Amino acid sequence: MPELPLIMWIAFAGVLGLLVGSFLNVVILRTPERMQADWRKQAREVLELEPVDEPRPPGLVFEPSHCPKCKHTLAAHDNIPVIGWLLLRGRCRYCKVAISAQYPLVELLTGIASAVVVWQFGPTMAALSALAFTWMLVALSGIDARTQLLPDEMTFPLLWIGLGLTLIPGWQPHPIAPSSAILAAMIGYLSLWSVYWLFKLVTGKEGMGHGDFKLLAALGAWMGPVALLPIILLSSLIGALVGGTLMLLRKHDRDVPMPFGPYIAAAGWVWFLAGDPLLAGYLHLAGMQ
Ligand SMILES: [Zn+2]
Repeated sequence: MPELPLIMWIAFAGVLGLLVGSFLNVVILRTPERMQADWRKQAREVLELEPVDEPRPPGLVFEPSHCPKCKHTLAAHDNIPVIGWLLLRGRCRYCKVAISAQYPLVELLTGIASAVVVWQFGPTMAALSALAFTWMLVALSGIDARTQLLPDEMTFPLLWIGLGLTLIPGWQPHPIAPSSAILAAMIGYLSLWSVYWLFKLVTGKEGMGHGDFKLLAALGAWMGPVALLPIILLSSLIGALVGGTLMLLRKHDRDVPMPFGPYIAAAGWVWFLAGDPLLAGYLHLAGMQ
């Protein structure tokens, strides 16, 4: 890597993160549409119904962004991350329909998270892996929050990349042996899987989705078995705080299922970046060190 002060790398990662966040918005919006169109097509095939001519939902890369209401294609300067939305005051330039705050929030979140990653890992190959990890978690959280789905198309690659990196020295943000990664993926999946079945046998309801097991398995592959328990505890804590606040603010209906994926992802990311200091702080508080 060329000699540049770390602050330049952090700034570069922040700007890159803003741009990637803008792309992740498209992924979050369009992936579920594409999945559902595929399911409808497959369901008709299974049921041996006549295929219908449904227009294919837009692709992820080659179709330009447009206003969801008036379909006007956005000008390049309206697409500048965060700033575009602020300058337009959250409204379409042409039809004045409100543009969701999801867009600037995802961009800002991705920008800040990317800067933090490079601040922690420096200009290294491990930081590059950690950026990919971060971006996939943002996409998964956004999709789960909107649709209660964690697509296999993203949880599985996250798992395989985590396992694969154990074979490339220097590329792992948290160096663990392949055997640890495999063990952690297995425990991660089976622990939530057992909770799911216990809950289902006792209450007859489904408490969480299979995507949650796969997501925890993937996090295990990146961080090893020791991280799993803190991630579960932390995700329950974040879930209780956010879920409780949402229920108070919006009088959220208890019977409407709340996606758990974003909390697992958030807890996983926090532990990924700050697990060691958090553990040290906890042990210190508990008087064990
Ligand atoms: Zn419009």
